[in-house]
Amino acid sequence: MSACHITNNKLRTTAIQCIKTESPTVKTFTFKDKHCAKAKPGQFLMLWIPGVDEIPLSILGADRNGDVSVSVKNVGEATQALHRRKVGDIIGVRGPFGNSFSLAKGRVLLVGGGTGLVPLLFHAKKSLSKVKLIVFVAGAKTKDELLFADEIRKVVSDRKMEFIETTEDGSCGFKGLCTQPLEPLLEKNKFNMIYACGPEQMIKEVFCLAQKHKIGFEASLERLMRCAVGLCGSCLLGKYRVCRDGPVFTGRQLEEASAEFGVSKRDFDGRRILINSGN
Ligand SMILES: Cc1cc2nc3c(=O)[nH]c(=O)nc-3n(C[C@H](O)[C@H](O)[C@H](O)COP(=O)(O)OP(=O)(O)OC[C@H]3O[C@@H](n4cnc5c(N)ncnc54)[C@H](O)[C@@H]3O)c2cc1C
Repeated sequence: MSACHITNNKLRTTAIQCIKTESPTVKTFTFKDKHCAKAKPGQFLMLWIPGVDEIPLSILGADRNGDVSVSVKNVGEATQALHRRKVGDIIGVRGPFGNSFSLAKGRVLLVGGGTGLVPLLFHAKKSLSKVKLIVFVAGAKTKDELLFADEIRKVVSDRKMEFIETTEDGSCGFKGLCTQPLEPLLEKNKFNMIYACGPEQMIKEVFCLAQKHKIGFEASLERLMRCAVGLCGSCLLGKYRVCRDGPVFTGRQLEEASAEFGVSKRDFDGRRILINSGN
């Protein structure tokens, strides 16, 4: 482990500076942390909620002035406790960890569902300024749960970019899953790269389309994570440890891990459990 990795892995405490409600279930928390402020899009941090738990979260924003933000969906004990925290409350941070998305050129397609939009928005804002065209497909179950629509629109208005919103109930944009508009898009445009993040079944569908159309592919995956530095083995995916070798994987790596990608993950006891369509 390099000196930089060791420093990043030390727990720092910091105060929550700002809390923004993004949707009925998602809040964005901003705090100061000089290490994570240097993060690249795709990297994650471990956030400790004192007295409760420590959880992995993708980084949504990292600014030179030291501001770091994460967007968190309330799904269980730790995330619920975090949602109850107020400005000024103390949290702990380790990171940034893992790798980041590559810098693509040409025409780029981003496909994200739910909180999977977090690393993709960071990527679109920070790293894709030189691409010719960006098409951003963002999906959610309902309009209320569609994250960052205004922010994505802002990025779109600056550049040659198309924004396609999808909701499962049709309350906003295209009615259906965010994978449904992809086939016609891929027939119309010649993309150089597809980036995806969201529920793993969704990522797998996008991966299959990328293979069919012979387009470069990268996706950020989630697994149970505890140590975040490749030691504990909670996040095994084939020969990879998602925290250390990912969380961003190329299409070729996912092909190698096809026995587990979109099929199974480890539970808290290290047992393999099936990934269902809701995960
Ligand atoms: C690299 C990475 C990036 C992530 N980014 C985000 C993000 O930007 N926003 C967001 O809302 N969520 C994100 N998650 C998921 C987030 O870590 C879990 O929702 C959170 O840990 C749930 O904790 P809980 O105690 O509230 O829920 P629990 O009741 O403990 O569990 C609810 C669900 O979360 C999963 N989970 C629980 N603990 C962990 C853990 N330590 N590691 C991974 N999954 C866990 C469980 O398998 C279960 O499916 C990310 C996960 C990973 C691995």
